[in-house]
Amino acid sequence: MSVHGEPSFRESVDLMFNRAVRHLDLSPGLEEKIRVCNSTYTVRFGVRLRGAIHTFTGYRSVHSEHMEPVKGGIRYALSVSQDEVEALAALMTYKCAIVEAPFGGSKGGLCIDPRQWDAHELEQITRRFAYELIKRDLINPSQNVPAPDMGTGEREMAWIADQYARMNTTDINARACVTGKPPHAGGIQGRVEATGRGVQYALREFFRHAEDKAKAGLSGGLEGKTAIVQGLGNVGYHAAKFLSEEDGVRIVAVIEHDGGVVSESGLDIEDLRQWITQNRGVRGYPRATFVENGASLLEAPCDILIPAAMEGVIHRGNAANVKAPLIVEAANGPVTFGGDEILRRKGVVIIPDMYANAGGVTVSYFEWVKNLSHIRFGRMQRRQEEARHELLVQELERLSADKGLGWTLSPGFKERYLRGAGELELVRSGLDDTMRGAYNAMREVWHGRNDVEDLRVAAYIVAISRVAQTYQSKGL
Ligand code: NAD
Repeated sequence: MSVHGEPSFRESVDLMFNRAVRHLDLSPGLEEKIRVCNSTYTVRFGVRLRGAIHTFTGYRSVHSEHMEPVKGGIRYALSVSQDEVEALAALMTYKCAIVEAPFGGSKGGLCIDPRQWDAHELEQITRRFAYELIKRDLINPSQNVPAPDMGTGEREMAWIADQYARMNTTDINARACVTGKPPHAGGIQGRVEATGRGVQYALREFFRHAEDKAKAGLSGGLEGKTAIVQGLGNVGYHAAKFLSEEDGVRIVAVIEHDGGVVSESGLDIEDLRQWITQNRGVRGYPRATFVENGASLLEAPCDILIPAAMEGVIHRGNAANVKAPLIVEAANGPVTFGGDEILRRKGVVIIPDMYANAGGVTVSYFEWVKNLSHIRFGRMQRRQEEARHELLVQELERLSADKGLGWTLSPGFKERYLRGAGELELVRSGLDDTMRGAYNAMREVWHGRNDVEDLRVAAYIVAISRVAQTYQSKGL
C-alpha cells in the first residue's frame, strides 16, 4: 500500500488490467500469463568514487516476452524500486502493443540521485550497471533494448551503447542494443522530442473528434485552450513547447519539484526552461507568480491537465478537486487506481499513459530499425523524390508559358513542394501516423461497446487482445 491507503503502483496497474480483462473472453490461464511479470533481476555493484566504494542497487524487469526484443527505459531516481520497475515494465508491454511496435515489455532502474554525481562519475556508474546487464543479455539488440526515462538521456544511452560495443566487438548490430542515443552515435533525428511530440499528436487527434471532445464538455480546436503541465523535463518541456508554439495552447501554469509558476496570459516555455536549467527549479522565476505548494496547481482550473513528471500524483486525496475536464497522462501512471475511479465518476476524460506517452517507444522502434538496416531513413529516395517534383513544377511552368496562361505558383510553394523528406520529416510522419492509428483503435472500442466507459479500459482491451493473439498464434 502506498500513501492515501491506495495500492502500490504495480498493484494499481494490475487492478486496471483486471478491470479491462473482464471484457475479454480469455482463458484464466492466458489472462494470468499476460498479467504477471516474467522476471526481475536485481543487481548490487560497487564503484570506487571520491576515494570510497559506493554500492548501488539496480533492476531490469522483463514483463512479457511474447515478442523479442523486449523494450523499456532505464530510470535514475532515488524512488526506484522493484515494484515501480515491474509496473513500468507491464505498461511497456501494453504500450508497445497499442502502437504496434514489435516488442515485449521491460524496464530498468537505478536507485540514484543523478544530481549528486558529476558527469565523469555518472559515466563510471552507468558503464558498470550496463556491464552487469549486458553480461546477462539484459541489454542486447535481439533480446532487450533499453531507452531513456526519468533521469537519463542521450548521454547515458551513448555510454551504454559504447559499453556494449566494447564487450561485443564482433556484433555488427551492436548499435541497436539501446535507443535514444545522440544522432552522431547511431541515434535518430527526433528521438529526444518524440514523447512530447507524441503527446501533441495525441491531443490533435482527440480534438479531431467532436464526439470525444463532447465527452469532456469541450469543443473547438486546440487554439486558445489552457493547459497546466507538471514536470518540465524531457516529456513535459517538449509537449508544452510544441502545444504552445504550434497549436496556440496557453500554458497557464507549470509545476516543478520545487514549486509552481502561474501566468494567466501564458508562460514562455523556452524562457522558463532556460531559467530552470540555470537555477535548478522554478523558484524566483521573474515572469510569473510563484506558488510554494506546486502540487496544489493540479487542482487549478484549465482545459487540459498534463502530468508529465512521475507516477501517483493524482490520487484519492486530490482527484475530487481536479477541475480540468481532460487529462493527458504524459507521465507513466500519474493517476492512481483510486484517483481514476473518482475522476471517471466526475466525467473527466483521461487519455491514458500507455497511449499518450507512446511516442518515445515509437521513435525508438524507428531508431532500432535504422540501426539494424545500417542506413538513415530517406537516404535512398530523397533526391529522387525531389527530381520528380522538379519535373512536375517545370512542366506546369512550361505549360503556363506556352499557352500564355500567366499562372504563378503561391509564394514559398515551390521550395516546400520540391524539398524531399529527410529523416526528421519521415520520423514525424511515422509518429503522427502511429498516434492517429492507435487513437482510432482505442476509440473504436470506447464508442463501439456499451460496456466500455473510458479510454483507459479501451486501451487495455486493444493491448491485451493483441498480446493474447500473439500468444495464441504461438500455440500457448
Ligand atoms: P525527466 O527527468 O526529463 O523530467 C522529469 C521532470 O519532472 C523534471 O523536470 C523534474 O524536476 C520534474 N519533477 C520531479 N519531481 C517532481 C514533482 N514532485 N513535481 C513536479 N515536477 C517534478 O523525465 P522524463 O523523461 O521527462 O519523464 C517524465 C515521465 O514521462 C516519467 O513518468 C517517465 O516514465 C515518462 N516517460 C518518459 C519517456 C521518455 O522518452 N523520456 C517516454 C515515456 C514516458
